[in-house]
Amino acid sequence: MKIVVLTGAGISAESGVPTFRDADGLWEGHRVEDVATPEAYDAQPLAVHRFYDARRAALGDVHPNPAHVALARLEDALGDDLFVVTQNIDDLHERAGSKRVLHMHGELLSAVCRSCRQRSEWTEDLGDFPPCPRCGLTDLRPDVVWFGEIPYEMDRIHDALDAADLFVSIGTSGAVYPAAGFVMHAAATGARTLELNLQPSEGTSFFDESRHGPAGVLVPAWVGGLLG
Ligand SMILES: [Zn+2]
Repeated sequence: MKIVVLTGAGISAESGVPTFRDADGLWEGHRVEDVATPEAYDAQPLAVHRFYDARRAALGDVHPNPAHVALARLEDALGDDLFVVTQNIDDLHERAGSKRVLHMHGELLSAVCRSCRQRSEWTEDLGDFPPCPRCGLTDLRPDVVWFGEIPYEMDRIHDALDAADLFVSIGTSGAVYPAAGFVMHAAATGARTLELNLQPSEGTSFFDESRHGPAGVLVPAWVGGLLG
């Protein structure tokens, strides 16, 4: 059985990672337009760097929760038959032991050079404008997909959805496209669809089944059921 799992902010929130809150449109007190758009970066690169530098540094204060651990356990059992796509830019899946995670919205622990396009693993601050390891120019930006930009590896994601027998959405609001459309894509190609979320998402009616509660409870139970 081929399984595609999509994870979103809800799974990280249970580890204490601050998330964008739709209700007031703020992200750790910042307007999204001020920190998560290419226009904001062009206007105020230092302010945008400081925002992501703080988030990168804060990764040291959070830890994977039982939902991350359960998905790593599932990967151990299924190998290449499990494909995890995350909208999250933290590294909690990897720290739980997952090795095949596609970060469709980029990663805090990566920098991308606007001159030569090289993506480099990155653990330090970017606010002091360090040189690109490849070309030497001081044109590194956070390797994060901002609003108005195209997520990474959509072709690979669509191929995985085409081949999936089961699509599971974990901790996503169902409001942010293109990820919100994955359930329709998977259903159209014959996959069963399951939602695991704290509350019914905006897309809940598109799923064959929805279970509501904390990811740290629902995901281990679901994985335990699959693996017997
Ligand atoms: Zn470069």
